[in-house]
Amino acid sequence: MSKYIYMDNSATTPVKKKVLDEMIPYFTENFGNPSSIYSLGSNSKVAVEKAREQVARALGADKNEIYFTAGGSESDNWALKGIASKHKNKGNHIITTKIEHHAVLHTCEYLHKNGFEITYLNVDKDGLIDLKELESAITDKTILISIMFANNEIGTIQPIKEIGEIAKSKNIIFHTDAVQAIGNVRIDVKELNIDLLSLSAHKFYGPKGMGALYIRKGLQIDPLIAGGGQERNKRAGTENVPGIVGLGKAIELAYENLEEHNEKLIKLRERLINGIQENIKYTRINGHRTKRLPGNVNVCFEFIEGESLLLSLDIEGIAGSSGSACTSGSLDPSHVLLAIGLPHEIAHGSLRLSLGDFNTEEEVDYVIAKLVKIVDRLRNMSPLYDKIKEAK
Ligand SMILES: *Cc1c(COP(=O)(O)O)cnc(C)c1O
Repeated sequence: MSKYIYMDNSATTPVKKKVLDEMIPYFTENFGNPSSIYSLGSNSKVAVEKAREQVARALGADKNEIYFTAGGSESDNWALKGIASKHKNKGNHIITTKIEHHAVLHTCEYLHKNGFEITYLNVDKDGLIDLKELESAITDKTILISIMFANNEIGTIQPIKEIGEIAKSKNIIFHTDAVQAIGNVRIDVKELNIDLLSLSAHKFYGPKGMGALYIRKGLQIDPLIAGGGQERNKRAGTENVPGIVGLGKAIELAYENLEEHNEKLIKLRERLINGIQENIKYTRINGHRTKRLPGNVNVCFEFIEGESLLLSLDIEGIAGSSGSACTSGSLDPSHVLLAIGLPHEIAHGSLRLSLGDFNTEEEVDYVIAKLVKIVDRLRNMSPLYDKIKEAK
């Protein structure tokens, strides 16, 4: 097998052909500015509004509740900063978790420097929050709860409906970073009592640099980007028309085939997990065993470094990640793995393989076979592993 095997679909996905085909005319002949009144402009406007409808339909939202942004990070920043500044007279307390994406965590750090108090909820060994801990963290100063739908590293899916009910009963705004959940979980924002939801196109076979924020009708929020009157005066800047068209098509396709996609990915995931567990000793699977993204596998191999594992996999033409794409450049162990209680040395030996629509059973088997060899070789170079062998 000389083909490249891509198992890092939680970091990003390729743009699907059907998505790209819809986008292309909006780079060339249909290049008009949606704000222009002549027909070239209004054609673009029509395309933008069609995409807004596609996103709204996927979320059970109204089209006027969808605002286009430049990705998941912008949506998270906007939700947190926009709510914090608009509602600061009511209170200065925000509740989030220890396992959020850095787009939320670093925004919380920024808000903390600007006078907000942040509570970071713990998670259990599977990565789930405790609803009682959430309830008791709420004070009369709490204005916002921001809890991710599904974790990007370990795949754990939070009890979003229950969180939404708690937030609603206490009259607190609820934001969820659903970047990893879109295209993997059916979501109805009304049924789940979600007030704000972040999504990003490149995580579900759409273009990079393109996202959206759902903002419940009537919710007051300050803009993040000031300028022109685009997006009903809430998000300035000439619309990324091809990107918006791509986002709309990608989310439509994702939900058209959701059950099929999930069934396939769960099968591949279980094959990969079982293959690893049956053939490699001293491993542990991180994240909740069933409340988990269909394509997520996160595994620790004791006595080896995640970095050397990734490099060896890369030589074999296999792309995975350790921790998340954003932290894999650094040597710090993942904040998520530390939060689920893994000791530093084990958190360092973690590997995330995230499966997507283009992976196959043959690829899974090939990766298992390569992992067996690589893990064995790396462990034989590890002084820690020698001690274990001697002790037996
Ligand atoms: C990828 C990701 C983001 C950031 O989205 P971008 O579009 O890359 O800015 C935010 N949150 C989660 C959970 C993610 O996986």
